[in-house]
Amino acid sequence: MGLFDSLKAGLAKTRKSFTEKIEMLISGSQKIDEEFLEELEAVLIAADVGMRTTARLLDDIRRAVKAGEVTSPDQLTPFLQQRIEEILAAGISYPRLAGVPPTVIMVVGVNGVGKTTTIGKLGYYYRQNGLKVILAAADTFRAAAIDQLEIWGKRIGADVIKHSEGADPAAVAYDAVKAALARKADVLIIDTAGRLHTKTNLMEELKKLKRVISREIPEAPHETLLVLDATTGQNAISQAKIFGAATDVSGVVLTKLDGTAKGGVIVAIKEELGLPVKWVGVGEGVNDLQPFMPKAFAQALFGDK
Ligand code: GDP
Repeated sequence: MGLFDSLKAGLAKTRKSFTEKIEMLISGSQKIDEEFLEELEAVLIAADVGMRTTARLLDDIRRAVKAGEVTSPDQLTPFLQQRIEEILAAGISYPRLAGVPPTVIMVVGVNGVGKTTTIGKLGYYYRQNGLKVILAAADTFRAAAIDQLEIWGKRIGADVIKHSEGADPAAVAYDAVKAALARKADVLIIDTAGRLHTKTNLMEELKKLKRVISREIPEAPHETLLVLDATTGQNAISQAKIFGAATDVSGVVLTKLDGTAKGGVIVAIKEELGLPVKWVGVGEGVNDLQPFMPKAFAQALFGDK
């Protein structure tokens, strides 16, 4: 399957709840009046687009109606697709590689959101591009996380730097950076712990990791990716706020879009948090992580009309 087709397949549930509801509303309405807009508001909020973004979209529609740009309900689908694409594309920043390797990518997020899987897929993406990848198991809190990362390392052909369970995560990160430099790796991806119930400790741990990494490579980590699970909808927004306050998140990976109708949350992440989504996860397979492309996303969301 090509990238666009797998994105489209991954967004099927969101498309069904979101776009199809909008289309039902449109086909049952003669004109865009306040009653119509109220129903549209309910559809947008149910799709986890967020209150602020919903209000903004409704304002845009009112303005377009007044200006005569939109004269009937059936013109709304292309209008909304365009507006959502514009929101997602505003200030877009793509995944970046360091001018001088290794590029160090720190991956943060709450347990269960798909962090380890994302690291595996991300490593695979760079391997496919001919780059040498090293993974670092700095989530030393869970033995299973270390094992899982090793399995991914074997699968994608990447060395894994690990210590034993309970070791100091900063020591793992230090060794990993040293190894990446010595082995001339192009990309180093660092897994981190995600137990949110010990929030303060976790945030201190992340800060310490950063310090250790940037002592060896001043510009590193070049990326701090926050992994969020789309199926959690507005919960993902609160997680992003917590992590955003503790570390400089440079981009979001939104996982499990294929398992949810709440894909609209991507708009809220962008619009309400100002965080760029850089990657989207659309399945459990090694190929199911794609760089986020606003135009393709909006097209896939609206069924490529
Ligand atoms: P972690 O605790 O954050 O490291 O989470 P894991 O990487 O272990 O993932 C938790 C579960 O989510 C696993 O069963 C993964 O296969 C699954 N998962 C991760 N990303 C995706 C995705 O994009 N789509 C689907 N359907 N499942 C995913």
